[in-house]
Amino acid sequence: MLEQMYEKKTKNLHFIVLLVSFIDVFVVCSHYFLQLNLCKPSKNKGFCIILANRKKTLAMKQILTLLIGFFILFSCNNVKKGAPEVKKEVNKSEKIANTFGIVIHGGAGTILKKNMSDSLEIAYTSKLKEAITTGHSILNNGGTSLEAVTATINIMEDSPLFNSGKGAVFTHDETNELDASIMDGATLNAGAVAGVTHIKNPINLALEVMNNSPHVLLAGEGAEQFARQQGFEMMDPSYFYTEKRYQSLLRVKEREMREQYKSISFEDSFIKDSKFGTVGCVALDKNGNLAAGTSTGGMTNKRWNRIGDSPIIGAGTYANNATCAVSSTGWGEYFIRAMVAHDISAMMEYKGISLQEAAKEVIQNKVPALGGDGGIVAIDKDGNIAMEFNTAGMYRAHMNAKGELIIKIYKE
Ligand code: ASP
Repeated sequence: MLEQMYEKKTKNLHFIVLLVSFIDVFVVCSHYFLQLNLCKPSKNKGFCIILANRKKTLAMKQILTLLIGFFILFSCNNVKKGAPEVKKEVNKSEKIANTFGIVIHGGAGTILKKNMSDSLEIAYTSKLKEAITTGHSILNNGGTSLEAVTATINIMEDSPLFNSGKGAVFTHDETNELDASIMDGATLNAGAVAGVTHIKNPINLALEVMNNSPHVLLAGEGAEQFARQQGFEMMDPSYFYTEKRYQSLLRVKEREMREQYKSISFEDSFIKDSKFGTVGCVALDKNGNLAAGTSTGGMTNKRWNRIGDSPIIGAGTYANNATCAVSSTGWGEYFIRAMVAHDISAMMEYKGISLQEAAKEVIQNKVPALGGDGGIVAIDKDGNIAMEFNTAGMYRAHMNAKGELIIKIYKE
């Protein structure tokens, strides 16, 4: 947009310079013509002297005009070169939006009221509230959507309630392998980490990958080497131990042995449902810039360095100022195959449909058609939101520019 404006301005200046030069040349030529006709021998000498003098003045004027012309032409080129750097910020919003908003999720799955104690429900609700109000106040004070997304996810990563950071689920080998990703809708820059085992807040490392490395996705030992180099604190793996998650793993393994499963089977709802709590956040800031982030421990009993959708840009996370920002949660294998987050954005972009329509189509039709389940939270460039899921529940919350807060857990 800005580039187009500069191009238009430059073209206008070029046109004015050409017009002035043309008039100038025309006036001088007509004087030459007059002199040739009128100042023949025997004709009026006084008139010819006046013409000759005027010719000199005109010649000087012409040189001056041409010099000014060249100067303007030169400046036009510089105006273009000196125009704000718009190449990297492909979708940087130029508007000062009169709205902003934030949406979060804390995982989707078979979350039923009958299985939830009152105290646990209160614990989830108040943690979701703490997380979303933190992000909301950053946005309200003029902070960026990336700052809001990171700070909001940090609160959920530090809570044992969610399957990310402190509360991450266990792998088959009784370790915790964490994945996270973040994306900036203004630049389409993105960063992600997969399979890290010593990082307290993987979303911060994903941001570091985006901001301070030439890469998008780093995994395992290499990602941790990068973290050490960037001064990240390395946690002892025992930090990630929570009794609840460990017991879940033991139950799943017991069942696996009993049923003599040859390999993990996420098809088994018992196994599939032992992993709630991936966290995600999407935000629109006051400058109209969108961002999305997701952080998870993956799925209980995962093996062989399995990586889900959460650190995959386009599947677990996607943000584009032209459309929307999306964070996914659910059965990662299907979300990767359906490219859920990007598909929602692409449907808005190519079909011109609303965020709600696109989210509904992907989550209620496309993902289940493959056999997967889960949900998303999303916000579009105008502040419209979607909290779509095809499971029994999804921890979720939304806060708009007016400060109105919605927190929900179950289907309604
Ligand atoms: N999508 C995550 C994964 O597959 C898990 C989840 O969101 O519950 O790793």
